[in-house]
Amino acid sequence: MTCIFCSIARGETHSYIIYEDELNMVFLDIYPVSKGHLLVIPREHYESIHDTPYKLLARTWFLSSILGRIYRVEFDAPGVNIVTNSGGAAGQVIFHFHVHVIPRWGRYGGFWSGRHRLTEDEAREVIDMWRDKTGIIIDALNNI
Ligand code: 5GP
Ligand code: ZN
Repeated sequence: MTCIFCSIARGETHSYIIYEDELNMVFLDIYPVSKGHLLVIPREHYESIHDTPYKLLARTWFLSSILGRIYRVEFDAPGVNIVTNSGGAAGQVIFHFHVHVIPRWGRYGGFWSGRHRLTEDEAREVIDMWRDKTGIIIDALNNI
């Protein structure tokens, strides 16, 4: 079985990468609901929260929270959603554990409203926004 997120983690499928280290990878969702919609994954393949080892689960959620905090504190986003869909019944489509980090820049119009195909220009803008934030992420990760 081929897994698209494994392929992204191996660098075989293109993605716009915001941050990566030996355990995790953060890249842009190709159908963002808002500018800066991120996906946080463990590099290793696990289906969802039920089979991801606790340490990796904790690390992935912590990293997701750090990114959410950076949206609130550094980018002044008025809101952020940090969510995982676990199981088809919850809307999970890609069965490689991932956390959505969705910044909210304006009036809330419903969870998935505003969905669109990611454009090259939008991706470049978000990559630029995050370019100098790697140090903050690493400092925070080292703080627990
Ligand atoms: P979920 O499984 O939580 O419902 O959502 C999977 C997410 O992955 C969706 O938001 C979808 O837009 C995103 N996605 C699906 N395929 C790809 C892909 O090939 N590349 C990227 N960057 N995102 C993808
Ligand atoms: Zn996978």
